[in-house]
Amino acid sequence: MRYRGRRSREPQPELADDDGPVSSSQHEGLGMKATLTVLGSGTSMGVPTLGCSCAVCHSSDPRDRRTRPSIMLEFAGKVVLIDTTPDFYAQAIREQICRVDAVFFTHTHADHILGIDDLRPLSYAHKPQKLPLYARPDAAAFLRRMFSYIFDADYKYGALPQLELRPIDGPVDVFGARFEPIRLIHGEAEIYGFRFGKAAYLTDHSEIPETSFHQLEGLDLLFLDALRHKPHPTHSTVENSLRIVERVKAKRAFFTHICHDLPHEATNAMLPPHVRLSYDGLKLEFEI
Ligand SMILES: [Zn+2]
Ligand SMILES: [Zn+2]
Ligand SMILES: [Zn+2]
Repeated sequence: MRYRGRRSREPQPELADDDGPVSSSQHEGLGMKATLTVLGSGTSMGVPTLGCSCAVCHSSDPRDRRTRPSIMLEFAGKVVLIDTTPDFYAQAIREQICRVDAVFFTHTHADHILGIDDLRPLSYAHKPQKLPLYARPDAAAFLRRMFSYIFDADYKYGALPQLELRPIDGPVDVFGARFEPIRLIHGEAEIYGFRFGKAAYLTDHSEIPETSFHQLEGLDLLFLDALRHKPHPTHSTVENSLRIVERVKAKRAFFTHICHDLPHEATNAMLPPHVRLSYDGLKLEFEI
């Protein structure tokens, strides 16, 4: 059975039970069926990149059109997002998203957070409670400052997104699924990737610390940053991410946060069959 947000018309504002003790070495989950939808597969500037005349930015292949990076997870009748990009509104229209029950944030770069305000109409379904946003403590503090008009406003007329920040520094159980933060190095910053059941989503990393690799064992589905071939100070390359896939032996891997250096079809033709470039609108089933 596939849980599609568009079919769940009735708001169910039940909030997460995130207080249960969990073991970081336990990845099995409950074996619930889940669907992962790629909302955006592009790098921070998007593809096409404004003002660029390269072949990929002018490609007629729809898979070469990459909005900013985010995914949607559907399970147990709930919808969970990872990041809300500046393209969230358009992504939500495209995927007919009519509910969101929680959002996890990887970090606070603009390409991952600027869609927060567009959660507003979907947040109202949770009244009198609020839509929970999970983030690292430092990221939650940054979001509170950056969006102070939402979090600190004394505004009673309902025209603000009804959102609640929930700082996390370890695994949380949300709607019966465990979300486990994975520490990643993104240039000079430490950020979160997430593991959930048999899948993991690692966007924006230049390095995966040795201490994080045990969390990547036994994956059916692995999403990884692969900006381009040329090295970049804050992002992984195709070659580096292929080595990571090889090391952790993920059954299937998909690259994301892709820039205009990588034409979809030609790049896929050079990758091993279990590794693909992701693309906007891609849907995958897995166990959470
Ligand atoms: Zn990014
Ligand atoms: Zn271009
Ligand atoms: Zn970033």
